[in-house]
Amino acid sequence: MTTHDETIIHLTASELAAKLTAGEISSVEATTAHLNRIRATDADIHAFLHVADQNALAAAADVDARRAAGAELGPLAGVPLAIKDVLATRDMPSTSGSKILEGWVPPYDATAVANARKADLIPLGKTNMDEFAMGSSTEHSAYGPTHNPWDLDRIPGGSGGGSAAAVAAFQAPLALGSDTGGSIRFPASVTGTVGVKPTYGGVSRYGAIALASSLDQIGPVTRTVRDAALLHDAIGGHDAHDSTSLDYAWPSFAAAAVAGSANGLKGLKVGVVKELGGDGFQQGVRNRFSDVLELLTREGAEIVDVSCPHFEYGIAAYYLILPAEASSNLAKFDGVRFGLRVLPDGTPTVENMMAATREAGFGAEVKRRLILGTYALSAGYYDAYYGSAQKVRTLIQRDYAAAFEQVDVLISPTAPTTAFKLGEKLNDPLAMYLNDVATIPVNLAGIPAMSLPMGLADEDGLPIGLQVCAPAFADDRLYAFGGAIEPLLEATWGGPILGKAPILREAVA
Ligand code: GLN
Repeated sequence: MTTHDETIIHLTASELAAKLTAGEISSVEATTAHLNRIRATDADIHAFLHVADQNALAAAADVDARRAAGAELGPLAGVPLAIKDVLATRDMPSTSGSKILEGWVPPYDATAVANARKADLIPLGKTNMDEFAMGSSTEHSAYGPTHNPWDLDRIPGGSGGGSAAAVAAFQAPLALGSDTGGSIRFPASVTGTVGVKPTYGGVSRYGAIALASSLDQIGPVTRTVRDAALLHDAIGGHDAHDSTSLDYAWPSFAAAAVAGSANGLKGLKVGVVKELGGDGFQQGVRNRFSDVLELLTREGAEIVDVSCPHFEYGIAAYYLILPAEASSNLAKFDGVRFGLRVLPDGTPTVENMMAATREAGFGAEVKRRLILGTYALSAGYYDAYYGSAQKVRTLIQRDYAAAFEQVDVLISPTAPTTAFKLGEKLNDPLAMYLNDVATIPVNLAGIPAMSLPMGLADEDGLPIGLQVCAPAFADDRLYAFGGAIEPLLEATWGGPILGKAPILREAVA
């Protein structure tokens, strides 16, 4: 890496975009710097499953040529982007972290990817993830875990640990993730990055390899609130290919972020969810959250305590709805249509070929959930399990509706703990599931939420996320609030939080 490369990789996406527009840096230079960074660091971090050197440089050269010819380009044109492997890409393998899709190159792009290309973002490659996005640590990837750039012995969160680690390690200024129960927000929380789960239907799911269709959303992973807003603006909007896509006139999220930082927090009603933050939350997490409440009060926001009594059933309902939908969505991976095909010993029949393929192609966590989901949907149990879980979902939606009658946004810690050690929860699925206590209710209700850094835990010096939630369609409120609080928080630490990471410190300086 040259010093020039070092300078480039430490720019935020909006800073980089400004330099590209001004002609101070070319997209080929920016792309080369990030590819060099990946080459230098990814043996340790393993954020990427595939790096698209040639195609990335070709796309960058094309943007540079069009810019030189005076073409009108979008605000992020020429900025590199990492893409979670859950998204279909026509020129790169798309495995969703599974052996069953090893080497599969889809015939088309997911809409979020197509929109990113239309905005002239430069795809750098595909990022690691828990198999089919089932997990909170990226340890369930069939291709080995990703390591947290803050401490290589720790998890980067999951399922989108690759995207968060790539952004935290300055391998990419921007990344795409998917969030079914927290897979954008939890990795953001434990890597000191910003992650947004948009309103359900705000970003097309077309070409996103489905986990649980009623919960899945695609969203941005970045180092700043403004960058998240710019990426959200680029990938979102109505898509006729996704029947749940919202046909809605979304405001500019980038403008909301800028307005937020100008307007501040005065007069804002901020709800604190009583059920999220007590027992089971690490002391350091609680301490930083109290600091945030003090800061908000000082800045003229009004703190309102709210209760969401049905959140306590969120994880239980989620672990019926998700496996049920996943068991249906993953039935198509059968050795006939895509990827892996295993022929069993003896006389092969279609049935025993499918069984052998699924046995060899799926990992333990995926099998666990498919068995659970198939059971929950079976005749006679449907009402008792899936039906009851759907009723809990309605109760959680009502909790949010009641809360948003009193407040503009709701806040809580994103997760109960900082990054745990690799291996620590791998053999204890229930302990792993409990991480998502604060993020899962958001997906069950379909509302938007952001995780942004709120400081470092006293115990271990690791980053902690602040989760901000808004009513459906009010994603702009997240960006306004995030745009207002981010500089105030950074002022208390004296700069971007990634500057505090032991491994990243010299890189950030
Ligand atoms: N950790 C949660 C799970 O294991 C969330 C996953 C996700 O959002 N894709 O299901």
